[in-house]
Parts: sequence; structure tokens; C-alpha cells
Amino acid sequence: MQKSKQKHIPKIIGIDLGTTNSLVSFIKDGSPRIIPNERGSRTTPSVVCIKPDGKEIIGEMARNQAVLNSEQTVANVKLAMGTQQKYPLNGRNYLPEEISGLILARLKENGEEYLGQDITDAVITVPAYFDDNQRRATMHAAGMSGIKVRKLLNEPTAAALAYSCGSNRPDARLLVVDLGGGTLDITLVEYQNKVFQVKAVGGSTAIGGVNFDTQIINHILQDFKESHSCDLSADNVAFQQLVIQSEKVKVDLSSSPEATMMIPYITMTDSGPLHLNKTISRSVFTDLIEPLLAEIKTLILDTFSKCKLTTDWVDSVIMVGGSTRIPAIESLLLDILDPEGTQPDLIKKAINQDEAVARGAAVMAGILSGELADIQFNDITSHDLGILNHQGEFEKLVEAGSLFPTATTKLFTTATDNQEEVTIQVVQQQGVNNSPTLVDLGNFNLNVAPGQQKGAPNIDVTFAIDLNEILTVSAIDLDTHKNAEISIEHEVSS
Ligand code: AMP
Repeated sequence: MQKSKQKHIPKIIGIDLGTTNSLVSFIKDGSPRIIPNERGSRTTPSVVCIKPDGKEIIGEMARNQAVLNSEQTVANVKLAMGTQQKYPLNGRNYLPEEISGLILARLKENGEEYLGQDITDAVITVPAYFDDNQRRATMHAAGMSGIKVRKLLNEPTAAALAYSCGSNRPDARLLVVDLGGGTLDITLVEYQNKVFQVKAVGGSTAIGGVNFDTQIINHILQDFKESHSCDLSADNVAFQQLVIQSEKVKVDLSSSPEATMMIPYITMTDSGPLHLNKTISRSVFTDLIEPLLAEIKTLILDTFSKCKLTTDWVDSVIMVGGSTRIPAIESLLLDILDPEGTQPDLIKKAINQDEAVARGAAVMAGILSGELADIQFNDITSHDLGILNHQGEFEKLVEAGSLFPTATTKLFTTATDNQEEVTIQVVQQQGVNNSPTLVDLGNFNLNVAPGQQKGAPNIDVTFAIDLNEILTVSAIDLDTHKNAEISIEHEVSS
């Protein structure tokens, strides 16, 4: 890799911290650029291996030895971000954010080497539907790698930024579909007179490439069981090979009508070795993933309903994430948006899917650093925000889709006589898949004037989200003017 000789000093870099691959970017002469890693590759696999001697291997080399050293290797860690899942490596349990921190540290190092300067600040992209815990975990990961996060930017929004800055069109009404390794993010964005306006976000953290792989894996497991009376899932090494080859078959099926999986000596039985040799056609694959396609369609239509737009509002579709290369995904989008087939140019194919998110992160970094000062960016909250009342029910104060900055105040009171303290429990509601879940964002206590009957005190609770997406929740007893508040940074949306 060559060190850059340019004098230009980027103030903030962009990082696409992907499930499968990660990229680093920056703005140079008003355009986003990708920073190659130490091997000269523009993408770095998000894979970490820690050897028994403590040596850390990150990226391509970690991925290459994953089959042999599956117990020392972690891939797809992004899918576990925000959970307490433990990765036992080299005698110690690592949290997902620690593994991500190692990846970020390597990306930072690559960036520093290429740019010939220290890097302190970054815009990091996250799936639009990352909840508070997942965003918080990403912030922790960055902190561990010595990166100050200037903004967590939603991946599809990043792709829209990259598209709009890369095309010469003065306006666009975009649908961005980002289907990666583990998540589906759907975003509607308007770009007009250099102003970006996010209209709605939707999607699911439970649909992505791994789900398509699983359909193939299950299909082959069943087929193998029927023809050889042997359960390949019981043999760890065989299963690992099946997982890897299933993904390869899926990828092949995006460009050819059929694909063959051939793994000689996949497992050993009492009567000798068994070989796997199976051809799958694209139409069988499409049938296998039909339930996933139906779910994706519903999620897209839900996103339009959120902002009360109809599908004909869209003039351009941007597809990002490796899984959008599956032909059935494009067919699905055309079926939803252009059933008559009158808009041959609807889906913008010129976009470099692997790099769009990273390029958008660089554009955002440029907006924040002032290098792209003429562009304005308006984002919206992706989740309902509110508090839990004394019955444990959700009381909404900020609706998903609210534009930053925003502030809402609601009056509350006490639930019991002589209550001297109320606890304000701040929560985020995720409304995806019609089964809302509540995520705890934090809590604080407020003292109220003593000796009052229940329902007598007047307590104003205010939710305020500033332009930096910092949510501040404050509460005040209007009778005593006592107040208390809590600040929650970068937790709302991006
Ligand atoms: P991303 O996180 O955007 O890099 O997406 C990674 C996912 O895209 C993985 O599940 C890959 O298997 C999948 N993928 C990459 N290329 C293709 C392709 N040509 N066809 C289908 N899936 C693909």
C-alpha cells in the first residue's frame, strides 16, 4: 500500500462497519474516497481471530483461517451488537462491542497509515433499525478503539447521500433498500436544493443474507439426510463447510441459473466417507426464500404508510448491501413500484453497492467538518420515545419520524398518596413487525412536594432532541420547581 502524499488533512473519516465487510473513507476535493487497507483491498472482512498466544488477526487473514480455527474466530459480530453474548477467545470472554472495537482499531490504523496522520474522529454507519443498545454498543466499540464518534449515520441514509452527491441531479425522491448480511433497512429520502430530508425509515433486524443462507443449508441438510441417512449438522467441521458453501451457492445463483455445491469427503461414517454433490437452480432457491420475500414486501409497504406516501412517489431506487444482488429482490421491487414496467430506469444500477455506504459516511463527515458546507441534512427519529407510567405502560412523547430538533412536554402526576419521589423511566419503542418492543434508555428520580394525595402533584416531563441527536429528558414539579434530568447521547436515530 502506498502512503498518500496529498497535503489534504481530513478532519473526520467515514467508517462503514459492516456485518461482513468494513470500509474506511474520507472526503478529498469535495468527493468521497475509499481508503485501501494494508493489503490494498478497499474492503476489510469484519472477522477477528485471537490466537492462543494472544496474537490478533483481523480482516482477510482472519477470514481465510476461519474454517480451521472456528473456535478462535468471530465473524458476523454486528448481528450480536448490544447483546451480552460472550465470545470465549484465548481464555477470556469478549463482548460483541469488544470484538467490534478490535475491528475499528484496525480500520483506524489502516486509515492513519494511508493518510499519514492520526485519526481521532469518525462518522460510523449503523443499520437504521439499530436500537439504543446496539447504537450504544457501537459507541463503546468506537471508544475502545480510540475513535470519537461524531455521528452514527444510518446506512441507507448514507447510501442516499452518496448517490445524491454523486449524481448531477438537483433533486431526487429516493427509496433506499439496504439488505446486507443480517439486516434490512428501508429508507425514503428526498433531496431538493441541496437539502436532504429523511421521510421515513423501516425494516427489520431479523432479515438478511444469513437467512437466505439458512434456507439453502436446511434444504441441503434435509436432502443429505434423505439420501444418506446422515445428519451433517452433527459434524461441526462438515457443518462449517456447508455454511460457507451455501453462501457461495447463493452468491453464484445471483449470476447463473444454477449452482453446484461439491464437498468431497464432507463427513465420515462407519461405512466410509461421504461426499456432497448437489445442484440447486435459481427457481428452487427463489421458492425456498419466498416467505422472506413476502416479509420484505410487507416491510417496504409499511415504510410508505409511515409517512403517508404512495409507491409512485419514488423516482429512483438505490439498492445497497450484498443481498440486493439476488435477482428475486429486484423483481420484488419492480413488482411493488413499477408493475406496469414503464420506468426502465427506476433502479439505479450504476451505484457501487459495496462502497455506497462508506462514501455516504465520508459525505456526512464532510458536512460535519465543513468541507461540504453547502449541503443541509435533516434527519428524523426512527423510534417512538416515551416513559413508562406507574402501570408499566408506554406513554409516548416523541413519535417516530419527528424531525430534529424536537421537544415535547406532557403532564404527569403521582400514583399513590404521600408519594415523595417519582422515577422517570425513559424507553424507546420499536414498532417493527407489528409487535412493538420497549428498550430501556435510562431513568432518574424526581422529588415531589411531600404530603400530597395521589394525582395532586403536577409534573411536567419534557423530551428534547437537539441537532446533534442528543436526547435530554427533564422533569419538573411545577409546584416546588424542583427538577431533574438525564441526557442520552446518540441514542435516538442517526
Ligand atoms: P453486506 O453486509 O452488505 O456486505 O452484505 C453481505 C451479505 O450479502 C452476505 O450475506 C452475502 O452472502 C450477501 N451477498 C454478497 N454478494 C451477493 C450476491 N452476489 N448475491 C447474493 N448475496 C450476496
